[in-house]
Amino acid sequence: MKILMICAEYAPLAKAGGLGDMVAALAGVLAARGHEVKVVLPLYGDIDRERHALAPCAGLPPFAVRRGGAVRRCRFWRAPAAGGPDVLLLENDDQFGRPGIYGYADVDEFADTLPRLALLAQGALEAAVLLDWAPDVVHVHDAAAALATVDLACWSRAGTPLAATRTLLTIHNLAHQSLHPRWEFTALDLPARLAWHPGEMEFHGGLNLMKAGILMSDLVNTVSPTYAREVIADEETGCGLAGVLRDRGADFSGILNGMDREAWDPATDRCLPATYSAGSPAGKTVCRTALLRELGLQDGGPVLASVGRLARQKGIDLLLPLVDGLVSEGWRLAVLGTGEPALEQALHAAAAAHPGRVAFAARFDEALSHRFYAGADAFVMPSRFEPCGLAQLYALRYGTPPVVRRTGGLADTVTDAAGPGDVGFVFDEATPAALGAALARAIEAWREPGRWSSLVRRGMAADFGWDAPAAAYEDLYRSLEGT
Ligand code: ADP
Repeated sequence: MKILMICAEYAPLAKAGGLGDMVAALAGVLAARGHEVKVVLPLYGDIDRERHALAPCAGLPPFAVRRGGAVRRCRFWRAPAAGGPDVLLLENDDQFGRPGIYGYADVDEFADTLPRLALLAQGALEAAVLLDWAPDVVHVHDAAAALATVDLACWSRAGTPLAATRTLLTIHNLAHQSLHPRWEFTALDLPARLAWHPGEMEFHGGLNLMKAGILMSDLVNTVSPTYAREVIADEETGCGLAGVLRDRGADFSGILNGMDREAWDPATDRCLPATYSAGSPAGKTVCRTALLRELGLQDGGPVLASVGRLARQKGIDLLLPLVDGLVSEGWRLAVLGTGEPALEQALHAAAAAHPGRVAFAARFDEALSHRFYAGADAFVMPSRFEPCGLAQLYALRYGTPPVVRRTGGLADTVTDAAGPGDVGFVFDEATPAALGAALARAIEAWREPGRWSSLVRRGMAADFGWDAPAAAYEDLYRSLEGT
């Protein structure tokens, strides 16, 4: 099949979280399975063109995108394909030339987000036209790309390569809906009815791109079966769109993300000081010693790591009241993340209060994240909600049992040490007490080396590869044919 993916992130070119990993892995595996896959993302100012060997597309001349009275000159760049998907980066300096994906330091959203996303959608569809390439499916990822489904639903496309194209929206995180004031609507050149109740884009008097995508895509899915159930059953997790999703009925489903088992393999990982595998685990001890040294932590207890965005979603605030107790029980705590200033401050304070016991690296650092997964003993992910979560999968693969809350994709991937086939520790209530009890069980297990190493081995053997998810996406694409 011919599949056009539209997205704001694509690892390793531009990544803010799991979406970038997921789109790159899915596009790669679909290409390897014989599909023709093109991916369009913006050429952000901080993408290193040289390092990624990007070059302006030879076959595609510069072009103009017109919308809402604005004329934007664009050009496509291309990443080396090497048998994988054809990755096209949309260049427009005014809109995309600055650093950042969603905003400065990806905390405050850019004020011109809506025109940026409109340009991404329109530019991506324009690529198909310019290349005279007729995608069977336009697969858009999250609210950032959802406008493409609206454009396709509203534009007359007879006689273009997009005439028969169907659409799939994948929701990676329902909490990020891309909300905008209604006055911005005129810049979109779309039919006015969309912006006024009961229009698809209207949401409490403003505009909501996720809602529009949900209502105007042919099919919608999200990234785990449990999250798919939670967002329609629970208004809070549904973030105001539970009813909208419910109304899509069987058109909405959940497909668990896989993980890229080549990019994330401790046996070959070049970011690590030593490699290892389940059968030959010695290198993990080397990684652990190196991580302790790198972070200035003293040995003497298990190392508990966290890697992730510092946002309420991730529940790191549930860990903060426990830090003193954890340290006196023997834990070492290593946190890598950026995000809400209050959480960053609290983590800096915890590190200052417990030198040699607590370390906080307040930055986005891909290579360091690999050393965290490898060097830690256990991994903590107390998310309030979690559409899928990839970090816990990386932790499992790197022999670092995760301690997680039973929600969304965490519930679908981590089985508790109390049950058979266990790979980690699971708790239910989003409270420090429940998290603390799970961590108490974890340190107890860690103190029994035989029990711990079999837990580690089971986690490392868990198969969260892409074969099954890719087949599920193929089924979704095929179900669109002829509809
Ligand atoms: P989400 O997409 O909600 O952020 P996931 O667990 O699906 O959560 O994916 C997070 C991804 O981002 C993982 O690959 C994780 O290693 C990475 N990541 C998050 N924060 C950082 C950071 N500060 N430095 C490096 N990688 C990070």
